[in-house]
Amino acid sequence: MFNFRRDLGFQLLTLYLLFIVPVILASLIFDQWLTQKIKANIESADLALARSIAQESNTFLQNALIAVEQLSAYPQVINADSSGMEELFAIFHSGRPDVNLIYRLDAQGIMVFHYPTGPGSTVGWDFSSRDYFLRAKATHHALLSKGRISPTTQQPVATAVMPLWSQQGRFLGLVATNIKLEALSATLKSIVAQHDPSAASDIVILDHTAQVIAHAESSMLLQDFSARQPEISQAVLSGETGSRVVEPGNGATDEAERLYSFAPISIAGWGVVVSRPAELAFAAVRATHRGVLFTMGFFIVVGFFFWLALSRQVLIPLESLALYSQKIGMETEIPEKYLQAVQEYIERDDQVGHLSRSLKRMEASIQARLKELSTLLQTSTSVVSTLDSRIVLDRILEQVEKLMQTHMCAIVALEERSGVFRAQASRGLSKQYTEQITILPNEQHSVSLRAIREGKPVQISDIETEASFASLRERARAEGYRSMLAVPLQTLHAPPAALIVYRKDPHVFSEREINLISSFANHATMAIENATLYEKSDLRLREQTRRLEALIQSLQDGLILEGLHGSILYYNKRITQLVNLEEVDLSKWTMTQFIDHLVRQAEDHQQAKLYQEIQGAMQGKDHRHIEFTALRERKKHYLRLQFFDVTDPEGESIGHGLILRDITRNREIDRMKSSLIATVSHELRTPLAAVKGYTTTLLAEDVSWDAQSQREFLEIILKETDRLSQLVTDLLDISRIEAGNLPIQRKECTLEELIQRAQLSAHPTPSNRLQVHLAKDIPLLFVDPPRIETVLRNLIENAVKYAGEDSPIRLTATVEEQHVVVRVEDEGPGIPSEKHAQIFDSFYRLENGLTRRNPGAGLGLSICKGFVEAHGGEIWLEERKKGACFAFSLPLTTSQEMKEEAK
Ligand code: ADP
Repeated sequence: MFNFRRDLGFQLLTLYLLFIVPVILASLIFDQWLTQKIKANIESADLALARSIAQESNTFLQNALIAVEQLSAYPQVINADSSGMEELFAIFHSGRPDVNLIYRLDAQGIMVFHYPTGPGSTVGWDFSSRDYFLRAKATHHALLSKGRISPTTQQPVATAVMPLWSQQGRFLGLVATNIKLEALSATLKSIVAQHDPSAASDIVILDHTAQVIAHAESSMLLQDFSARQPEISQAVLSGETGSRVVEPGNGATDEAERLYSFAPISIAGWGVVVSRPAELAFAAVRATHRGVLFTMGFFIVVGFFFWLALSRQVLIPLESLALYSQKIGMETEIPEKYLQAVQEYIERDDQVGHLSRSLKRMEASIQARLKELSTLLQTSTSVVSTLDSRIVLDRILEQVEKLMQTHMCAIVALEERSGVFRAQASRGLSKQYTEQITILPNEQHSVSLRAIREGKPVQISDIETEASFASLRERARAEGYRSMLAVPLQTLHAPPAALIVYRKDPHVFSEREINLISSFANHATMAIENATLYEKSDLRLREQTRRLEALIQSLQDGLILEGLHGSILYYNKRITQLVNLEEVDLSKWTMTQFIDHLVRQAEDHQQAKLYQEIQGAMQGKDHRHIEFTALRERKKHYLRLQFFDVTDPEGESIGHGLILRDITRNREIDRMKSSLIATVSHELRTPLAAVKGYTTTLLAEDVSWDAQSQREFLEIILKETDRLSQLVTDLLDISRIEAGNLPIQRKECTLEELIQRAQLSAHPTPSNRLQVHLAKDIPLLFVDPPRIETVLRNLIENAVKYAGEDSPIRLTATVEEQHVVVRVEDEGPGIPSEKHAQIFDSFYRLENGLTRRNPGAGLGLSICKGFVEAHGGEIWLEERKKGACFAFSLPLTTSQEMKEEAK
């Protein structure tokens, strides 16, 4: 919105109006006041004229009345003595040129005498009906008649009349003098000439009947003034003094507006009226009025033009400059019209021109500052964009070159390996020169080293004149620079370094330039520091990470970590082995996918329960340890899950973890422990009881046994002792197998002889139930003969014991893929397939009648497994429709190969 307070144009306009409006008002008031004043002056001047005429006339008439009064005192007049009167009147007449007739009327109004007597005579005429005669009869004082034409002189006159009374009070007639009205008019003329030289005024003396009895023009005499101006004649004859402007009309015969001033002639009840056209009277007023209007108009017009000029010359330029100044420093481009306007004002010599030039300079300086700032910003961005200090230093030098318009620049730093200062980055310098820069730390004249030592910028404004530079001058000339500035880089962790700027011309670096280059130097310092610190910390970090990684990867437990959003953050190899996911990249899985997979690994009947337990454990509700059985390659594995929360140092949860442990071995050990106790309690006790029983029997003193019985008893004792001995051997073997230190002493032997020996030592013997079929190509074996014999014997014994008495037993041997494979088959009840995985475990025995009938500790098959595996072979059960088929393989190694391998 337009803000009036901020707009200079509006403020000036307001100021102008504040000035001009009071001036106009004052002019109008002054005009009003002046008009009234002038009017009053004019009126009072006219009134004064009227008054002075009235005064004059009054005196004149009074003189006339006194004169006639004096005449009335003369006896010849009283007595109407004609000859006496003639003499008297002649004298009087000669002294009064304004009087044209002096006469005497008798008591009846008959003319008795008049002077001058000729040419016409009215002696004997009756004037009794005359108004003045009638009035004279009623008074003792002199009076004045109205204006009239004297019948005697035929001239307009007014008569001063003095009634004559006898001492007895009888009316004797009157004596009168006719005053020439023309004489009055002449008097009037002289007064007017005295007071009103322009003769603009129209002056009239009225008698008491409003007849004109004095006027400059004699033709006007005795005309009725009330017909012309009834209002004024009425006012003056009623004794009023004053001025009035009277418009035409209203009974008046004037054609234009007139100013009337009037005063009464009190002695005669007459009046003086001075009038003139209002237009003429108030010409001065109008002139003043026009003058005021003109002044006002002048002020307004001049004000308007002043305003225009002010706008054009000051306000518009100021507004343009203000808008221009607002645009300075903004991101947006300055519009062309502002630029043009400013360009125009720059030419001016006044303050606007001065301001425009200042703004232009300001713009240029701001642009330069902005450029510096943006370059510094870019430099800062470069510093943080990479940790490779070389790239950063290159970028910094690029900015230095761009901003400072320098020709060459470089950063030199101490190379810790070689102990000399070398260029780490450079621009504009020749490769050869850059490579040549090798400054020894004790070099005295090096500018960079001086800057580093002094800890402040050092400049050489002209290498040609600088004495300390003499030794380096040749090289500088060759490279083509004349001046240089070195700024130290204040590093804490990195080796000392300096930024050097070269110019082709001799140049004194200003403080601003030095400050700017110092800023770049600070950035370079930061980059070098960052890179150094990063290098140090990165090495440490990498080492720590490597160790930690190795530790976690070599854990026997599987570990998996889940982030807050369910993704898998980390896992070790072991966990993939434990859940059969060796080939899978678990980092692309979610924890839910992993748990689903884990649950599927469990035995079918456990899965639903396990899933629930895992959910509970993950939410931290239930037990966080869960144990379950997984089937892997048809073998049971006991696994234990442990959930835990991962928190940051402040204790805030940042994820979950899961440890998976194969506890099969622990379970096995537990089982073995209990089996061992059971075996010891049963398998050892039974033969011992027999041995003890028969020995006690033999030693009984009250019975004497024949030789036959004694031999039988001793044979039983021997058999049971053998059984005990076999059991102890088996236990020893198992413990060695478990401990992994089963000694194997290989010898060359044939399979055939091993089978024979096993067959003979088997107990119970297979007798003729055993059928042996050996392939022809079976080579000489290089094995531990007693161990393999034990394997064969155990398998044959088992077939004899558990296949039933009628079952035939087949022993076959073939050569398959560099192995000799031996199979021992029978047609007995066999072994259920779900037990295949466990049948080779120590102390494991099936739960059936045949097993129960035959003594055994469940060690035979696990010893077979241990012995075969100790030879690098394998043992397994093969699926048969009927009966059991145990097979084992032995690698076909010769003694030679073994020896070579041992090397
Ligand atoms: P032992 O013979 O002392 O019981 P073994 O480890 O030799 O111990 O045998 C383990 C179990 O395997 C036996 O108890 C038996 O139940 C079963 N078994 C072994 N061989 C056979 C076979 N040929 N036929 C049926 N069951 C067998």
